[in-house]
Amino acid sequence: MIRGVLERYKSYLPVNEKTPMFTLGEGDTPLVRSKTISQEVGCDELYFKLEGCNPSGSFKDRGMVLAVAKAMEEGGESIVCASTGNTSASAAAYGAYCGLETTVFVPKNNIARGKLAQAITYGARIILIDGNFDDALKVVRELTAKHPIILVNSLNPYRIEGQKTASFEIIEDLGTAPDYLFIPVGNAGNITAYWQGFVEARNMEWTAILPKMMGFQAEGAAAIVRGRPIAKPETIASAIRVGNPASWDGAVKARDESNGTIDSVTDEEIMEAYEWIARKEGIFCEPASAASVAGLIKLSRNGVHLKDSKIVCVLTGTGLKDPDLASSMEPVFMDEYPPQLEAVERALGLH
Ligand SMILES: *Cc1c(COP(=O)(O)O)cnc(C)c1O
Repeated sequence: MIRGVLERYKSYLPVNEKTPMFTLGEGDTPLVRSKTISQEVGCDELYFKLEGCNPSGSFKDRGMVLAVAKAMEEGGESIVCASTGNTSASAAAYGAYCGLETTVFVPKNNIARGKLAQAITYGARIILIDGNFDDALKVVRELTAKHPIILVNSLNPYRIEGQKTASFEIIEDLGTAPDYLFIPVGNAGNITAYWQGFVEARNMEWTAILPKMMGFQAEGAAAIVRGRPIAKPETIASAIRVGNPASWDGAVKARDESNGTIDSVTDEEIMEAYEWIARKEGIFCEPASAASVAGLIKLSRNGVHLKDSKIVCVLTGTGLKDPDLASSMEPVFMDEYPPQLEAVERALGLH
């Protein structure tokens, strides 16, 4: 029986006897050891944290279960979020389970098809915004300041609290924090949450060391790297297409306190990593997730010595979220044949 994030970590989360305890099966995601990319980058111990195994297919569920439980505890009836897609899918799932009126604001024409399909199917109300994610977030902030509707974006502190549990799980699996944590950075809530989790775990003496936090933005949306908001963020990785990260300060704090870095990777580097993760490791993640591995590859190409380090790359969401991008990949082989043995033998060179 999966206990879920609330039950499993209740001693470390802001829950009390009035908080409803429920789960859709979030958390307890696999930490899988790399077979091939570890050799490519010259690191003996490389792991992938498969956050795509969460119930709605991304890490957003860890924080959403707590944000929605607290909304229920407070007697809320209505939740809202702005989203590049995964927050809306997660809010729609937990909102449906709890019978809340759920409204999601997503950028028109800029949401991966699998994510929109989830919001539709879970039965959320969908507002398509003629603008980007940052525009959508601005309007939901105004909306929730004025009306009794609960905001479940990562500005909601319960989201960060729930998401920090991923750090606890990594420490449980490795027996220590890793030396490096590679993670994609969009709105920067997740890097903030991981760092909070690692620091709390160290203070509880679950780990003696803290990881260097290695955050990676997409080059066309690298606000923190450039030190200023990007008005029109562009990247193939829609989950990190954010021009003005809400948790900017949290990301900078994680970077500086951990002696880490926040850097950028190009869409080409993201797509190379996306393909490697699938074809060398058998893991189908979404392009934003691949930014973490793209960052690791970039570091190794720059000659950084990683051999004796324990490294975790967070793969934030499943590849099925973005079927259009996946289908645009060059197949190793794809062609059409009649259902005849000879024809397929010839095609496969089996003579
Ligand atoms: C939300 C999301 C991100 C970015 O996380 P932030 O907390 O916004 O930095 C990265 N990858 C995926 C798949 C996401 O859903």
